[in-house]
Amino acid sequence: MRVVDVRTHVLLDPAYDPGATSSAQDTIVVEVVTDEGIVGIGETDLNAWIARACIEAPGMHTMDRGLREMLLGRDPLDPRALWDELYVGTAMTGRRGALVHALGAIDIALWDICGKAAGVPCWKQWGDTARDSLTPYASLQPEVTSYDAYVESMVAWGVRAQELGFRAVKCEATFSGPYVHKGLYGPDEQVVEVAAAVRGAVGPELAIMVDVQYAFDSVERALAVAEALAPHDVFFLETPLWVDDLAGYAELRRRSPVRIAQGEWLSTRFEFESLISGECVDVVQPDIGRVGGFTEALRVCDFARRAGLVIVPHAWKTGISVAAAAHLAMVTPEMPFFEFLPAELCESSLRKELVQDELVFADGVLRPPERPGLGVEIDADALARFAEAAEQLVRDRYAKVT
Ligand SMILES: [Mg+2]
Repeated sequence: MRVVDVRTHVLLDPAYDPGATSSAQDTIVVEVVTDEGIVGIGETDLNAWIARACIEAPGMHTMDRGLREMLLGRDPLDPRALWDELYVGTAMTGRRGALVHALGAIDIALWDICGKAAGVPCWKQWGDTARDSLTPYASLQPEVTSYDAYVESMVAWGVRAQELGFRAVKCEATFSGPYVHKGLYGPDEQVVEVAAAVRGAVGPELAIMVDVQYAFDSVERALAVAEALAPHDVFFLETPLWVDDLAGYAELRRRSPVRIAQGEWLSTRFEFESLISGECVDVVQPDIGRVGGFTEALRVCDFARRAGLVIVPHAWKTGISVAAAAHLAMVTPEMPFFEFLPAELCESSLRKELVQDELVFADGVLRPPERPGLGVEIDADALARFAEAAEQLVRDRYAKVT
C-alpha cells in the first residue's frame, strides 16, 4: 500500500464568533489517500490555515522537509515509524507547536487506514480493552452575554445533561485572564458561584469539573478558588495558571484540596514529561491531535500511567476528535471520563453536522467503537458548505484591508 495523496480541508462554522473562546468553530480535516482505495481521516485543533501550511509547505533542505511530500509514495501501515521519521525530518520548523499539531492529524489518519486495512477498530491495534463502555462528560459553555444569563444557562444545561444520562459535566467558568468568553469579566468568586449553583441543582451524584482557562496570575489566587471549590465536590480544576508556569503548578498542586489539571496545549511526550516529572498536575489532558496524534498520545498515557496520574484528554472539535478520544479511552484504564460535546448541548454546526459517527449515547455511557478504523464518515455536503464558509472568511478579511 502506498500514500498517493494528502488532502487538507479548512472548514468554518458560518455562524462563528471571533469573541467566543471556542476552537470548535473552525477545523482542519486531513485525508490520507492510498492506492488501494482506503482513505484515512484525521483532525487537529489549531488555526486551520496554519495547519494546512504545515502540511503542504514544500521542504527546503534535509533538516526542514515537508510533511506532505515526505508521506507521498510511502507505506502507511507503520504509523509509529513514520511519526519518528516525520518528526525528525521537519525538526527545524517543527519539534513543538503547530507542526506537531498538524502531524497529529496525519497520524490519526494513518491509524484510521491501518484499522480499515485490518478490519478492526483503531483501539484494537494497541492492546487489550480497558473497559466495557465509555463514560463521556459534557463540556458546557453557554453562548450568552451576561453573567446572570450565564449562570442560569449553565444550571439549565447541567440539569439537561443529567437528564440525558451524563454522569459528569465540565463547567467553563472564565471570568478573568486573557481568554474571557464573550467579554464576561467578573470577580473570582463567580467561578465558585457557577460551580455551587450547578451542584445545588444536580445534587451529589454528578461529577463536576471546572475550567478557568488560564485565568489566574498567581498561585495564591488559584489556591483561594480551589479551596472555595472544594466543598462543592469538584473533580478537578483545569488550567488555573499560565501554561508555562510549571513551578506555580507544582506549588498549587502541593497545596490544593482539588485535583489540578493541565495539558491541552502541549505537544509531544517531551512537554508532558516536564509536566509529569515536575509533579505539576494530578490530571494530564493531552489533546490527541495537538500532542501529535495517537502515536504520541499513547506514549503520554504510558508515561502518566507509570506516574500514577489520571488522564482526561481534551477534545473540543468535531466527531472526528471525539471518536479519537473514545478509541484512546478503550485502552486506557486511567481515563475515567473523556470530553464529549453532545449535539443537544452545543451551538457549533461543525460539531453537529460534519461527521456521522457510531457513538450512541445511552444510560450515561457509550458502547465501544466497533467499526474498522476510527468509525467516522464525513458528510460531503456539509464539508463543501463549511469549506466555502472558510474561503468566504478569507475573502472578507482581505476585502477589509485593501
Ligand atoms: Mg480547557
